[in-house]
Amino acid sequence: MPYGIDQWEKDMAEMEIRRWLSQIGQWAPEVEFDRRLPPDEPIPMGELSPAAIDRVLYEAVNGRIGCHADGLTYVVPIFYAYDGHYIYGHTGEGMKVAMMRANPNVCFEVDHVTTLTDWESVIAWGRFEELAGTAAEEATQYLINRLKPLMDDQTITPSLEHTADAGKRKVVVYRIALDRRTGRYEKRQG
Ligand SMILES: Cc1cc2nc3c(=O)[nH]c(=O)nc-3n(C[C@H](O)[C@H](O)[C@H](O)COP(=O)(O)OP(=O)(O)OC[C@H]3O[C@@H](n4cnc5c(N)ncnc54)[C@H](O)[C@@H]3O)c2cc1C
Repeated sequence: MPYGIDQWEKDMAEMEIRRWLSQIGQWAPEVEFDRRLPPDEPIPMGELSPAAIDRVLYEAVNGRIGCHADGLTYVVPIFYAYDGHYIYGHTGEGMKVAMMRANPNVCFEVDHVTTLTDWESVIAWGRFEELAGTAAEEATQYLINRLKPLMDDQTITPSLEHTADAGKRKVVVYRIALDRRTGRYEKRQG
């Protein structure tokens, strides 16, 4: 049976009741189980394989960088291109670049959501590296190739295309060398 809004509202109401029962010491979470699933049906959630993690990273073009410096944590959305090892991005001077220069160890998150019960997400850790010269030009070209199909005539094509030209605009081209990666998914049958 599809997991519809009625069931979701019922689950939310149940959760509120459980929270209240828990607060007054009348509910032990460890004896609870998901009653929507028959006991012999495998739980449709799990960990993505390394190949599936790679696929999610390749397919998406927007993700979130989590950075932390001087006691402040900052999560910021970006567009990117992935080549199997690195996340490539371009931006201007600002808070995220200042923070990543101060502490290059960052977290990167991407998700793909179809419905509330059909999604995949990847969380990875990596190191921010600022690019210059030929490396910046190649990264910019790679980004353009990846993002161009998603641009309309008015969007960021000019700024992206000028990024390799340091004389025109102060831009920062960077990559994040991904290290540890984890992936999870949920896929309930409709
Ligand atoms: C889907 C998506 C893709 C994006 N892709 C790119 C990209 O590829 N390159 C790029 O440079 N920018 C991109 N942006 C914009 C990006 O999220 C930042 O707004 C921008 O890069 C400026 O970041 P900064 O740290 O330099 O902010 P600054 O200009 O230094 O400003 C910092 C202040 O602005 C607030 N702020 C900054 N960004 C946001 C935000 N997105 N939402 C709410 N508050 C914000 C911060 O909380 C902080 O208070 C994208 C945004 C979205 C939603």
